[in-house]
Amino acid sequence: MADAPRPLVAGNWKMNGLLAGREEARLVAERIAARPAACDVLICPPFTLIAPLAKTLDKSAILRGGQDCHPAQSGAHTGNVSAEMLSDLTCSHVIVGHSERRADHGESDVLVRAKAEAAISQSLTAIVCIGETEAERDRGETLDVVKRQLAGSVPYAATAASVTIAYEPVWAIGTGRTPTPDDVAEVHGVIRNELASRFGQDGHGMRILYGGSVKPANASELMSVANVDGALVGGASLKADDFDGIIEAYR
Ligand code: PEP
Repeated sequence: MADAPRPLVAGNWKMNGLLAGREEARLVAERIAARPAACDVLICPPFTLIAPLAKTLDKSAILRGGQDCHPAQSGAHTGNVSAEMLSDLTCSHVIVGHSERRADHGESDVLVRAKAEAAISQSLTAIVCIGETEAERDRGETLDVVKRQLAGSVPYAATAASVTIAYEPVWAIGTGRTPTPDDVAEVHGVIRNELASRFGQDGHGMRILYGGSVKPANASELMSVANVDGALVGGASLKADDFDGIIEAYR
């Protein structure tokens, strides 16, 4: 069996942050340089901050990523950004299929897969987000939803390097509520089995992040669950103290 993947702690700044936000990223970089962690660290700022952050983090190990990309390489798509543009700005990753985009923009599994394929074609790692709503959870549909989204959103040619999965229960995002470690273990175990049966060794080596109200206080417990290979962090990634407090789980 493949070795466990090196963990990734990824920050999703969503639609937050002005130029002054560079300072928080600089502070995180400073702390990682002083006390390295056994994980990769990624910040996905709004598009407007990618280039400034690339400059701020020039000498740091912190990776940059986008929060979305269009499936096409270029063209008449007002307001959109392509995977090639992200790559051009030194991004290594892009989040696709975040539940806020699935809900706010009606993104389907088919569209999410097309976006992930566009990312891979530009040598970006696609962070494919999946997760059930509270209503689906209450109906006992969590595992079915997760399997369906995995089957529909993950590219056929995914590899351990080109795709990372983020399991984010929608009801846990920004709410302060989290599933129990046992619940996380069950869902991540099912995701791992699905990936392994579809992609073999690559499926064993693919990162599976947990996301949804990860904070310094619960990071160690959540990150020590089997098949949790890091975190996708929203609110707590905006402040250096909080984000570094989560990275602390890997020191
Ligand atoms: C997210 O939106 O990806 C997320 C995990 O948000 P939060 O950490 O704020 O719950």
